[in-house]
Amino acid sequence: MKKGLLIVLSGPSGVGKGCVVKQIMSDEELKLSYSISMTTRLPRNGEVDGVNYDFVTKDQFKQAIENCELLEYAEFVGNYYGTPMKRAQDLINQGRNVILEIEVEGCMQIAEKCSDALTIFITPPNMQELENRIRSRGTEAEEVIQQRLSKAVSEMKLICGYKYVVCNEDVKLASDIVSLIIKRHMQN
Ligand code: 5GP
Repeated sequence: MKKGLLIVLSGPSGVGKGCVVKQIMSDEELKLSYSISMTTRLPRNGEVDGVNYDFVTKDQFKQAIENCELLEYAEFVGNYYGTPMKRAQDLINQGRNVILEIEVEGCMQIAEKCSDALTIFITPPNMQELENRIRSRGTEAEEVIQQRLSKAVSEMKLICGYKYVVCNEDVKLASDIVSLIIKRHMQN
């Protein structure tokens, strides 16, 4: 059986990666499976354990690192985030295209380990729009918003490490472009 692709969608917090993922997940032709990350962050209102993330304690996260269970992991604004390896590998072996929605440091770890991973960076049209989007989410305190914005500036500098860059000015358009990129790679 033909193995699936490992697809990494990354970009600054608030850029709309989640909205793009939601759109493309509805296209069955793409045979996508979403990789549920592990995080030490507390759930936001409406987030469900095992659906949005596997919410774990710092000790549980440390244990997963020690057991080599993570494909990649990174610290992001005071919390840890990582991709459980076995789940992603099993899905890829079953021919599913596995999509990871992660920050840049994790993406760089994956690019080093799996040179055939399809890496896509989503950019905001400009930094003011990114700030508007983070603020309109209304989920973070001012201090965390500032931390996420300054992190975004450093993340944007790593854009050239990606195979593709897609600007998310309009979610539908950005999602259509990401779909086309994936379809092209499915034919290889
Ligand atoms: P949030 O707290 O907004 O859900 O996520 C913060 C950042 O962590 C986002 O950029 C998100 O894409 C990233 N992230 C989520 N899961 C993972 C993961 O498994 N690994 C890495 N490296 N980053 C992740």
